[in-house]
Formats: sequence, C-alpha cells, structure tokens
Amino acid sequence: MGKVFFGQIIHSKSLDNLELITDGFVAVRDGKIVAIGTRLEFEAVPEKETYEKISLSESQFLLPGFIDCHIHAPQVPNIGLGLDKDLLGWLSAYTFPLEAQYKDVEFAEQVYRTVVRDTLASGTTCACYFATIYNGSNKVLTEEIIRQGQRAFVGKVSSNRCCPDFYVECGTDDSVKDNIDFIEYVLSKNIDRVRPIITPRFAISCDMKLMQKLAELAERYKLNIQSHVSENLGELDAVREFFPKNKHYCDVYDEAKLLTSRCVMAHGVHLEDDELRVLASRGTSVAHCPTSNTSLGSGMCDVKRLLAARVTVGLGTDVSGGNRIAMNDVIRATLDVSHHLNMMKKQNVQGTGSVAPTEDNAKYVPLNYKQAIYLATLGGAEALAIADKVGNFLPGKDFDALLIDTSVYPINRYQLPPALTEKKSAEEKLLELLQKFVYVGDDRNITSVFVAGQKVK
Ligand SMILES: [Zn+2]
Repeated sequence: MGKVFFGQIIHSKSLDNLELITDGFVAVRDGKIVAIGTRLEFEAVPEKETYEKISLSESQFLLPGFIDCHIHAPQVPNIGLGLDKDLLGWLSAYTFPLEAQYKDVEFAEQVYRTVVRDTLASGTTCACYFATIYNGSNKVLTEEIIRQGQRAFVGKVSSNRCCPDFYVECGTDDSVKDNIDFIEYVLSKNIDRVRPIITPRFAISCDMKLMQKLAELAERYKLNIQSHVSENLGELDAVREFFPKNKHYCDVYDEAKLLTSRCVMAHGVHLEDDELRVLASRGTSVAHCPTSNTSLGSGMCDVKRLLAARVTVGLGTDVSGGNRIAMNDVIRATLDVSHHLNMMKKQNVQGTGSVAPTEDNAKYVPLNYKQAIYLATLGGAEALAIADKVGNFLPGKDFDALLIDTSVYPINRYQLPPALTEKKSAEEKLLELLQKFVYVGDDRNITSVFVAGQKVK
C-alpha cells in the first residue's frame, strides 16, 4: 500500500527555483515518489483509493532530507575539542589519536550506533562518511547504516604517509588490498542506498602512486571519490613542498585522475581561478563546510564564486573540524559566512582596510535562505551524483523527506499575534514557516524522517 501526504510541501528544483505547494500532495509507493501536485491534482492519480492518507497540520510541511556531503564518523567523540588549533595542529593533537582507537571494534560499535542515530534524528537522510583505515570498524559503520536505514557513502580512509606511526597504512599495495576488501564487502550487501566511496585522506598523506591506484579502483568499480582540497594555508604550503612540479593543489589530484564527475572535494576555501576551471571541466564538486572553516580558522569559502564558475556545491558538517552534527547549523553557518564575505566586500572593515571597493564587490549578492536549502538538499545530491535518486520530490525519485513541525519547541517559543499573520497569503505564511525553521529550528522540529519511504525517526 502506498502513502499520500496532504499539506504544505517545499522543495528545490534548482538554486533559484524553490517550489512552494501550499495545499498539495506527495504520493509514495514502494519508497518512490509516484506523483506530486496540488490537492486537486491528486484526483488524477491512478488507483488513488489504494493510498493511506496522511494529513499535515497548518504548522507542518515536508522538506527533502538533508544531504551531508562531508562528515568524519569516527571523529564524533571529539566534537568541540581542539578547535583552538589550526588544521594540521588539530589533526596531530586530536584527530589521529582518536581515529587510531577504531582498531577496537567494540568501541566503534558504540560510537557508530550513536553517530547514525543522531545524524538521522537531525534530518541527515544521506551522509557521505569518512571512516578510518581499519576495515573491521569500517564494516561496523556500514552495518549500522544499513540497520538504521540511512542512505550513505562509506569511505575506508587511505593514507600511507605523514601520519603518526600508530595510525598509518604500511604501504601502497596493502592499502589497495584493504580498499578492495572493503569495496567488495559493501557491494556484497547489494543495498542500493549504501555505497563504498574511494577516500584518499588528502594529498599530504597519500603519495602519487597510491592516489593513482585509488583512481583506478574508482574507475574499475564505478565508485564515487571524496577527499579534501585547499582548506587551510599551512596545508597549501605542505602540498607545494610535496608536489613542487604541480601547478596547484587541484593539479595534484588531476594528475592522479581523481577529479571525476563523481568526485566531491571538501572545503575549496583557497582555490585559484584556474583550479575552479579544472574542477568545473571535470565535473568535480565541492562540499562547503562553513562551521569547520570557522572553527579551525581555515578561511571563508566564497560559495557564490564557486557557483559562478559552474562548480557544483553541497554542504558538509565536517565533524569534528565542524562542531555541529546537524545540517540546520551548517545551513545557518553557510548564510553567516556568505554575509560576512559580503560585508567585507562592501565596507572597509574597521582597523583592517583590507578590501578594495571594486565594482565586483559592490555588485556582490550573498546567498539567501532559499539557496541555502537548495545547497543542503538538491545541491548535495548533485555534488554526490545522486540527483537522479534524491534531492527533491520529483516523481521517480526515492522519498527521502523530513516532516517539519513549527508548533514544537524551539520554533513555537515566539509566535506572531494573529493580527499580523491573518492577512498574509498562504505562500507568504509558508515561506515564514521555512524562515523560522532555517534560522531558529533544530532537530526537535524534525518530527519524522523518511529514507526511501521508510520512517527512520
Ligand atoms: Zn574533513
């Protein structure tokens, strides 16, 4: 039996096309969206009487599930720690020692159970996970994702140098062997929504030979790829030192043939114009991680510049460089960073005088909340090359959705008096519910979560 939801629906059709259906329906059967439209249009849906009917209240609406394009599952116990350091200092003081603990499969079981539960509860229907170098615990993460019903990419981390002795792969051949073992393990589960992803940690911790072998594996098994690029200035210096012959950071990955149309690179804060051209021509995407970039003082990524260069952008929590597991917080941080950039471009920041008042700066327009919703949903799906499956409510896609309730704390804490709302159109009211959710809401306002039609919260 299918299900049909009647009520208010919001989804992105593109960066600047957010569709609002104030009195509509979404019909779902076998986990897939059969039809969407206005309430009246439901009359034309074949076998309409066979659907179980669910009516949303005036304070509720449906939104596509959030897609976290970049999260390190093993780093979750470190959330909030070491953020007084920069990237490379934080990696050695906090990240490597914690990730090394995942040799212990029992420890991994405890953590990963919580990570999958909490990401789902905060509306992440699809997560693109970095795991660790240890396949025992990587398999535990995969099983937890399958058991709890999340959609995910799971990456066995590859790094064969510049990591401490207690947390490094022995050599290229061993790394490749472990990668094949993990890839075949995940594929053998034969679950469409859970896929392995090729995961070189970053160019500093992988030599060229390993990166080339990983690119071959991605090609052989038709897999997505994820890594980090141009996050922090100290990292850029180290990349120049390791790869003096390459033009820039992206050129290193391009030489390894890692930049494909199924590759997502985290951060891209300091990319040069030529690197943007390379990424756009390869169809490689960027996962923008503003909470992390701010916490580690890495920089402010200009998402509008990336989009103007035709680079696809999704959002990532980058836990635990990022200090929040919920995509709500990343959406807000995306808007904050975009506004900070805009203000820097428009005004002489007191005491710095660093920004030249150019014509481009004067014309700059920061991201708005509707565009931020696109980045967290359809943009993420495009970045992970799964927009044919999820990202919005177009018929034929899987029903990955959030039921948002604005009558629940914290959004219900402050309500406008009826005199100020009753004259507004249904569309204006719905947009205000969305604004409240974007700027004030959290996981408590996400009362149900669906992945491929299955209720997982
Ligand atoms: Zn990361």
